[in-house]
Amino acid sequence: MRIADYIRDIQDFPKEGVGFKDITPLLNDHAAMMEATKQLLALVGDKKVDRVVGMESRGYFFATLLAEKLGAGFVPVRKPGKLPFDTISQEYSLEYGTDILEMHVDAIKPGEKVLIHDDVLATGGTAEAVCKLVERLGGEIVQVNFLMELSFLHGRDKLAQYEVKSLMSY
Ligand code: IMP
Repeated sequence: MRIADYIRDIQDFPKEGVGFKDITPLLNDHAAMMEATKQLLALVGDKKVDRVVGMESRGYFFATLLAEKLGAGFVPVRKPGKLPFDTISQEYSLEYGTDILEMHVDAIKPGEKVLIHDDVLATGGTAEAVCKLVERLGGEIVQVNFLMELSFLHGRDKLAQYEVKSLMSY
């Protein structure tokens, strides 16, 4: 089974000129979803993981599945104003302007081993901001992994100090 066969290209979404990688066919198919989970787990190998951090919202699906398989907790990262408890915030740059991501202050304890997961690595701004949130809480990032990376956008350059892995590269 090829995971790539379950990724759908949508042209001009969410805006004109953008080619969007849609993972919903992968989520719709149980066997494909389990195979992708197995392959992501293989990327992690035998690393100890206490918490898996997932990015709103498409990062949540596989981050949760990975947390279950790794015997780890799950930590949601959200857009501003969505998390109910005390948060820390991290601003990051977009193509035009900036955005903010938040995490609960008690989501990670100092010294905990953290796996960060998202569906797509594009410019790397999102993942870099999440790395900063984790490190501000004292977490130790053991890997940052993705279903796929858009390698022509060089997102890895922003994550050079971390172990970065992805199942597919475009
Ligand atoms: P970056 O910050 O530029 O690396 O963008 C990554 C974020 O945008 C991730 O949270 C992705 O979920 C989302 N993203 C960017 N491109 C795509 C895409 O083609 N499909 C799905 N999500 C995408």
